Amino acid sequence: MNLTKSAVKSQKSEDEKKAGIDSGAKIAGSGTRKEIMQRLQNHYGSPECSLDYNEPWQLLFATILSAQCTDARVNMITEKLYKKYPKLEDVAAASVEEFEQDIKSAGFYHMKAVHIIECANQLIREYKGELPSDIDELTSLSGVGRKTANVVRTHIFHIPSVVVDTHVKRISGRLGFTNETEPEKIEQDLMKRVPKAQWSDINLQFITLGREICKSQHPACEMCFLADICRYKKAADKGKEKQSKKKNNA
Ligand code: SF4
Repeated sequence: MNLTKSAVKSQKSEDEKKAGIDSGAKIAGSGTRKEIMQRLQNHYGSPECSLDYNEPWQLLFATILSAQCTDARVNMITEKLYKKYPKLEDVAAASVEEFEQDIKSAGFYHMKAVHIIECANQLIREYKGELPSDIDELTSLSGVGRKTANVVRTHIFHIPSVVVDTHVKRISGRLGFTNETEPEKIEQDLMKRVPKAQWSDINLQFITLGREICKSQHPACEMCFLADICRYKKAADKGKEKQSKKKNNA
């Protein structure tokens, strides 16, 4: 499920090569970053977590299910899943084969079923059925990486945290908040460059922008409210200009 470091690097460089951005590109200045954050706030406000849950452990498992899967699909799956397994103990006692069928449409269902059932058992065995809030304890749970742990810390414990998923990784690079490629380093850059009070909001704002406008393959820059201050767009425009000059001179 997780991309190797080299795969992450090549994916990023492909994306940035297209726009002429390399790892030494200039980070957006503090004024530009401020303006970007202000516009994101004006446009999206404080978005809510898009995964449905009633209990903290339900959000944890929904987040594990959401790897390589849309939140809308996860919500369809968990609506039935948590009726069938209403208590954490029910998940812990589930058979892997049956659970796999219950979550099949989330993709990577064997791995996810094994992780979720083991995680439920760990929570009962080691934490009396409660979620820990500590990042190291959370990431020691089966199937829980930093991204999932930070989702839980943000939404369950209201501890300001930066969640680096595929959208946050792409958008933070395009907008000049980081030149890093590894999620942990991106997390550090965002923590450095975004005021703590805005960490939760900017996560969800980047994710919404990434889903609606700044898509991976075809960012809709022509309809984007950040087009005039986006380094990716500027670099892409320059690249196009160069190419058309070359054509004209040929
Ligand atoms: S201008 Fe284009 S590249 Fe920049 S954030 Fe908007 S959609 Fe993404």
